[in-house]
Amino acid sequence: MDLSKANDAVARRIQAMVERVNGLKEHDLYFYNQPITEMRGGARVLVKGRDMGMYASYGYLGLLGHPRITAAAKAALEKYGTGTHGVRTLAGTLDLHNELEQTIADFKHAEAAVTYTSGYVTNLTVVSTLMGRGDWVLSDKLNHASIVDGCLMSGAMFRRFKHNDMADLEKRLKQAPADVSKLVIADAVFSMDGDIIDLPSVVDLCRKYNAWLMMDEAHSVGVLGATGRGIEEHFGLGDVVDIKMGTLSKTIPSVGGYVAGKKDLITYLRHASRAYIFSAALPPAQAAAAMESFKVILDEPWRMEKLQANTDQFINGLKEAGFDTMLTETAIVPVLCGSDERAFALTRTAQEKDLFVLPVVSPAVPEGLARLRATVTAAHEPDEIAYAIDVLAKAGKEIGII
Ligand SMILES: *Cc1c(COP(=O)(O)O)cnc(C)c1O
Repeated sequence: MDLSKANDAVARRIQAMVERVNGLKEHDLYFYNQPITEMRGGARVLVKGRDMGMYASYGYLGLLGHPRITAAAKAALEKYGTGTHGVRTLAGTLDLHNELEQTIADFKHAEAAVTYTSGYVTNLTVVSTLMGRGDWVLSDKLNHASIVDGCLMSGAMFRRFKHNDMADLEKRLKQAPADVSKLVIADAVFSMDGDIIDLPSVVDLCRKYNAWLMMDEAHSVGVLGATGRGIEEHFGLGDVVDIKMGTLSKTIPSVGGYVAGKKDLITYLRHASRAYIFSAALPPAQAAAAMESFKVILDEPWRMEKLQANTDQFINGLKEAGFDTMLTETAIVPVLCGSDERAFALTRTAQEKDLFVLPVVSPAVPEGLARLRATVTAAHEPDEIAYAIDVLAKAGKEIGII
């Protein structure tokens, strides 16, 4: 295909995107895909030769580079090599995978767990394996793209309820015929807004309408609950979530995804979910790193406390400066800017002052709600956070956001 001559729908789509990207680059407003050349302990990074404060990472507990985790990965690399050469079902399962899954199950106070090679793939395969034609899936409007894609792929009736709106969820549960299977699914902590799902009410509704419940804990494991176990611990609810999904790529400095739950559910997923059966197993070093991370979280509870203190300092400081941080209660802190242009302008100034923050603009968020999606971690020190607040406040005033 000669792209310079082609003029079909595909070529036009490609052209439109390329023009948008090039337009931003010409105005020095393109901030994506910047290569980091050094990870300096979670709170700082080296970018284009500059030492910058990192405010866009999901490493909430600052575990990247932790000596125990790095040592575990190295030992697994030495023992098993760099890959698995196979799918779990056939030649790809190592004792390491089974130990990792047991560790996750214990951490989540669940009977069993199964892992996949990414969080994205976990949602895609788990939702589409459990649900099918004739079933109903009810999904929060702000759920992650991987959940949306899993719902669409499942072929089930796909209904979205208003964000964290329990009256709307109930209305939709009522609309579903009584005899169909229903799944309610939501992010535990919403990945763009940082707010927390009203789990107690969701649980009540699921019981009332006989629905399965799935929680995506990408941003709640290592963030919520006194010991970092996540959303159920946060609300003191015990084992109320049927399908406890999470990633191994955020608080856990590895890659992969998991589901924890009842033994029979996990057995079913192991033999029916296509990403488990038809895609190679997690590499040994990544499995070992993930396993050690869960142990470190429990052994070093100060990390949870420091994350909470840093989160409070960051949110309160930004609010005092006059920013709208929406309904966040967690380490994900939206700094509302309004138009895409304002979000780009604030990002540019912040980056000039050595803050590595990134804008989220439409269509990822609704038009007019463009923002910085800033994050803090346990690796930051109070004086670094104070500097970041100061930079954002000065720039926010110059641009007219506050
Ligand atoms: C990041 C994220 C995922 C995907 O996880 P990966 O491990 O990065 O593929 C799924 N759900 C939510 C809510 C996320 O934020």
